[in-house]
Amino acid sequence: MRYSAMRVLLEGLTGNRGWKPVWRDPEPKPQYDVVIVGGGGHGLATAYYLAKQFGQQNIAVLEKGWIGSGNVGRNTTIIRSNYLLPGNEPFYEFSLKLWEGLEQDFNYNAMVSQRSILNLIHSDPQRDAFARRANAMLLAGADAELVDAAQLRRELPFLDFDNARFPIRGGLFQRRGGTVRHDAVAWGYARGADSLGVDIIQNCEVTGFNIDNGICRGVETTRGNIRAGKTAVCVAGSSSRVMALAGMRLPIESHVLQAFVTEGLKPLLPGVITFGAGHFYVSQSDKGGLVFGGDIDGYNSYAQRGNLPVVEDVCEGGMAIMPMIGRARLLRSWGGIMDMSMDGSPFIDKTHIDGLYFNGGWCYGGFKATPASGYCYAHLLAKDTPHPTATEYRLDRFARGHLIDEKGQGAQPNLH
Ligand SMILES: Cc1cc2nc3c(=O)[nH]c(=O)nc-3n(C[C@H](O)[C@H](O)[C@H](O)COP(=O)(O)OP(=O)(O)OC[C@H]3O[C@@H](n4cnc5c(N)ncnc54)[C@H](O)[C@@H]3O)c2cc1C
Repeated sequence: MRYSAMRVLLEGLTGNRGWKPVWRDPEPKPQYDVVIVGGGGHGLATAYYLAKQFGQQNIAVLEKGWIGSGNVGRNTTIIRSNYLLPGNEPFYEFSLKLWEGLEQDFNYNAMVSQRSILNLIHSDPQRDAFARRANAMLLAGADAELVDAAQLRRELPFLDFDNARFPIRGGLFQRRGGTVRHDAVAWGYARGADSLGVDIIQNCEVTGFNIDNGICRGVETTRGNIRAGKTAVCVAGSSSRVMALAGMRLPIESHVLQAFVTEGLKPLLPGVITFGAGHFYVSQSDKGGLVFGGDIDGYNSYAQRGNLPVVEDVCEGGMAIMPMIGRARLLRSWGGIMDMSMDGSPFIDKTHIDGLYFNGGWCYGGFKATPASGYCYAHLLAKDTPHPTATEYRLDRFARGHLIDEKGQGAQPNLH
């Protein structure tokens, strides 16, 4: 069924009895050409592009819970491509371009809203760093705009410009950045993949890999063994645990990241705003709630909940740039498990085990990467060579000394 304004009108007039389930609920088959482990945004996007762009058939996505139960449905929904390094920037710009055409592509309203993202500048050295980043973005074909405090005062008069400790000196805008309704992305890709024949199997946990003489022949699951020509893991926060089942130890740690939503307010924030002297990012949802977050909690965890010191730290960041946020009541908060890599950048690669592929290490920036990650992983699975924008996301880059360390923090996952 294709969705359209006409369809909504027709269904409205006939009692909404014609809507079909958005995807099927098939029984697992004994064998697939490609088995994707993890039905988050990245796994579903991979299945969709494998079927749509690379003409592969006989694909399954195995999800231990339900579609949207992981980080794809827990993030703060920000999309952008304002990166500095050549290993990252072309990839994230490719992703932003895919976001721009996504709703038409998979015929689903994902509420892609290019309402802009602004990184605030609070010092002269920070302005220099953002000027350099803006130039890197422009060189990669992205948009970037450095603005001074006077222009910001006109556009966002509610910010606390003259805060003695963190005065606002300007900002770096990416006007094409913004937000996307996160769980609609999972549903849209699931629907698109299902309509191309992909089996999406929920409540099916992968508990082991069938590895024979260095070749991965398939997976063991809570719903039986499934043979696979290729097995593609993308389980985000569970990466270390799942790859340990194949005997692999990854350069990844799992940490918890929290998100917060206030009660609904009248329209206030035109776009996404990030605090440059601490870690705080905020946007306003279409329902009016301020959606915000900050740093990870800073300790290893597989729990999908965080602790109070970080709640305080995040709210302090908000108060520093927009003190009126202190009047808003917090409605909800939750946590998600982040697969923090040692240099803050991801992996899309084959492993040393034939037929076993790995996608992970997205830290807390993987939502914006969803379309490009799916596309590039599908490219790797179909052609066995990396997509041109994802050539640096190799598992051996630490051994080679080719880190992609945007923040220059070194091997310190909790600081990326
Ligand atoms: C609070 C928070 C805020 C964030 N904000 C942003 C943001 O604003 N912008 C941004 O770009 N990124 C953000 N992120 C990061 C982003 O959400 C993640 O990097 C991204 O969603 C990870 O990819 P995914 O969607 O595939 O993960 P997930 O949705 O977590 O998918 C992985 C799936 O694997 C499944 N799985 C695990 N183990 C198994 C198994 N053994 N067998 C089968 N299935 C298994 C899980 O159940 C899960 O559904 C945020 C994350 C959090 C938690």
